[in-house]
Amino acid sequence: MKYYSLNHQSPVTNFKEATIKGQAPDKGLYFPEYIPQVPQAVLQNLQSLSREEIAYTVIQPYVGDAIPENDLHRIVTETVNFPIPLVQIKEGVFSLELFHGPTLAFKDIGARFMSRCLGYFMGQQQQQKKVIVLVATSGDTGGAVANGFYDVEGVEVVILYPSGKVSSIQEKQLTTLGKNIRALEVTGTFDDCQQLVKQAFADSALTSDLFLTSANSINVARWLPQQFYYFFALQQWKEKEAPVIAVPSGNFGNICAGMLAHLSGLPVKHFIAACNANDVVTQYLHTQQYQPRPAVATISNAMDVGNPSNFIRIQELYQQQFGPLQQVLSSYCISDDTTKQVIKEVAATEDYLLDPHGAVAYKALQQYQQQHAGAAGFILETAHPVKFPDVVEEVTGKPVPVPPSVAYLLDKEKKSKVIAVSYDALKEALYEI
Ligand SMILES: *Cc1c(COP(=O)(O)O)cnc(C)c1O
Repeated sequence: MKYYSLNHQSPVTNFKEATIKGQAPDKGLYFPEYIPQVPQAVLQNLQSLSREEIAYTVIQPYVGDAIPENDLHRIVTETVNFPIPLVQIKEGVFSLELFHGPTLAFKDIGARFMSRCLGYFMGQQQQQKKVIVLVATSGDTGGAVANGFYDVEGVEVVILYPSGKVSSIQEKQLTTLGKNIRALEVTGTFDDCQQLVKQAFADSALTSDLFLTSANSINVARWLPQQFYYFFALQQWKEKEAPVIAVPSGNFGNICAGMLAHLSGLPVKHFIAACNANDVVTQYLHTQQYQPRPAVATISNAMDVGNPSNFIRIQELYQQQFGPLQQVLSSYCISDDTTKQVIKEVAATEDYLLDPHGAVAYKALQQYQQQHAGAAGFILETAHPVKFPDVVEEVTGKPVPVPPSVAYLLDKEKKSKVIAVSYDALKEALYEI
């Protein structure tokens, strides 16, 4: 598979180079030259195949000969080595629980796959310089990347996060590991963090001194494996018609992977981009005007993105045509008040505890179903509610039980370096490594 830049000013490249570089030299996102079709024999027999086999079949064409079969099998197996159940909440509404991985969020899948690919590529070439994975997080990316890359030989990780805008468990997940993981606490917003990271990648003096790569969802090795669990959901789907899928969306990498899976042959009735007050895409689907704005803070903070970086990939999937895109994608914007109300209601009536992101998706799916009677669907439950204890406890009046897999974090000491929203401060921190 070859990848081209969506800015069309860089040469095409292969999976290995796209993974190592993260972004094309012209600052564009990499995009596959064609969309491989999953064989009908696989699509029609999902139930009888193992998750590893499905994942391997889906990803292999994208990797090509960059990773040999045995290594790719190992990487895929390690990536999906935790349960991903499709759980019924009520009639016609299911939840694909993506929070059973090590940091209790769906980003574990992309981060585990990417870290293992990068580890493979680094081991292969005798690099003089260590690679520095530079990443901005609004909450969950940081923990998943820190965990996925922890102790990977030849890789240093630098995580920028907005001070005071991530939950305490999220913060612990990215500030307590040590070793090759460093956290920079930026006194600004997530968009500021993302801007600083973009500036670093655009700085040719810096990138000739240091070997930088990104682990944000713009990296193809994080984006593409997110297709896996859409197939796993269909493996467990027993309703008559293809599902409507509601995805809580921030940078739109997750939903974009689902739409790619669909174009590869996976049956899906409709996609719903569930957004909080950061509703640039919701507005776009109504007005055809794409108007990025600064992010506003909400209780579903992993979706506080004012200019979603992967939306351009979604447009590319549909050849920049508004009509066909609108056929397959709807979007709803859900307020914080409604989100809280939904968490409360669903806990009381269905005995199911949603996190704020899942609750946004739940409400969006409900709104769609009110207009399309009988359309069964599922939400992507992207994080465990314990990652957002303040909101969930306030609403339900009960503490969220802390799973043992994260309980130990609470006593660990936070280690971060506070920096202002200043590119010089970031540069200084990078040169210190
Ligand atoms: C990152 C994240 C999202 C948003 O995913 P995108 O791929 O950026 O759209 C949603 N929910 C949670 C819990 C997240 O961590």
